[in-house]
Parts: sequence; structure tokens; C-alpha cells
Amino acid sequence: MISKTSAIVVRIRHWSQTSHMVTWLTPNHGLITTSVKGACRPKSAFLGQYDLAYTCEMLYYTREYGGVHPLRECTPLQLREPLRHNWRAGTAASYYCDMAASVTLPMQDTSPIYHLLETALDHACNHNPRIGHLLAYEISMLHHLGLQPDLTPCPTCHTPDLKWIRFSLASGRILCAHASPVALTEPAITLHRDVIAAIRATPTTTNEWQLPSDDNIALGIRRFLGMFIRYHLDLSVAARRVAYELLSAANQQ
Ligand SMILES: [Zn+2]
Repeated sequence: MISKTSAIVVRIRHWSQTSHMVTWLTPNHGLITTSVKGACRPKSAFLGQYDLAYTCEMLYYTREYGGVHPLRECTPLQLREPLRHNWRAGTAASYYCDMAASVTLPMQDTSPIYHLLETALDHACNHNPRIGHLLAYEISMLHHLGLQPDLTPCPTCHTPDLKWIRFSLASGRILCAHASPVALTEPAITLHRDVIAAIRATPTTTNEWQLPSDDNIALGIRRFLGMFIRYHLDLSVAARRVAYELLSAANQQ
């Protein structure tokens, strides 16, 4: 059977001297991996038809038991050219694609994540990406995955004079004297209340993203999300670190 869908290229890897394995994020079928035989041959019909972060319309032969599907046709719909010229935008886009590919599965309804990735890539084309954008993307992604940390303070225990607040990574919520006895034995980290307030105030739609007002708060959010994501998601720590380090260097220019 042949299936047709719009899809964003989230990974490309060589499969032989001339062929590619291309992984796509689709709105309704989750992650799809296609084989593209002869993709790199001079006369290949696929030359220039896909690249990382392109949105394409693609036709593929559906394999009944999942796995790898041969690509039949592919037409680019959104090339996102600025990602090839502005290295900050390219860095952010690579990280956005890598994270989306790491948190989704084949045959999954991924429309909110597809939409987030699509708008985040467009955002990277039109804004010079900074660390705050990576943070906003991660917070938005956790929200769409239903994994957002519950950072609601306790009205009794977390009085305004209390600057440092304990947070359980395992249960994903703030701890106080009213937490369950089990939660109180879980490993906890300490967060500054300004970091908590900044994460809570971060919008989860790209057109409302704002940068953290203060570098220390941005660093606090980055450390917290790093620990939280490592605990809850299977994501490459190295890819995350590279993206943040490149954009930190860019911020200083
Ligand atoms: Zn309490």
C-alpha cells in the first residue's frame, strides 16, 4: 500500500555509499523511517527534494509490520532556507529535530509535537535563536508530552521569604511538609523561587516565546531542565550540551 503524508525531516543518515535512511515526523503516524536507495547518485530523483528540517509531502510504501518503508516520491513544501545560512538558526533547528525524534515513536498520534516542531523551525528562521529559545522549546515539548513539572508552590509552606524550594524529580512536583511520606524520601533538588516563577511564566506556543530576563535565571532553568529531561526522557545529553554551548558562544558575539 502507498501512503501519503506531510512530514518534517528529523534525521538523515547514510545507509550505504549512495543511499540514505531518512526519519520523518508526521502529524498522524508518528515517526516514520524511509529508505532512499541511490539518494546520492547524480541522477537521483530525490536530489534536493529533502534535507534536515524541510517539510515535505511524501509518498511511501507502507510495510505491514512497521520498520523501514521505501520512499516513493517526495516534494519539498517548506525549505526553510535561513537554517542553511545562519548557523545559530541551524544549530537550534538541529536540536529541535533531534529532540522531537527522540521523544516520539512510530504509529503515534504526534500532531501537537509535529505542530510545535513546525512552528519552532519557522521561529528559528525568523529570529536569531538564543539559549532562551531552546529553553522555551524544551518547556513547550514537556507540556505537549504531558510531562511538564508541577511547579505550583504550597500556599502554606512556600511563603514569599522562602527563596529555595525542594523539588522531586521522580514525582515531578514541588515538595513541602504536606507531601506524601513516599515523596519525601525521593531524591530532591533545590530550585530558586525565581527560576520556578520563570518556568511557570514561559508560554508554550512559539509565537509567545520570550527570553528569560536574567542570565542567572536562564542558567537555573537550563540546569533544572537538564536534570528533569535526563530523568524522564531518553535524549542524547551530548547533543543538548553541544546546542547550548554553541548558542552560548553566539550570545557573546
Ligand atoms: Zn505545604
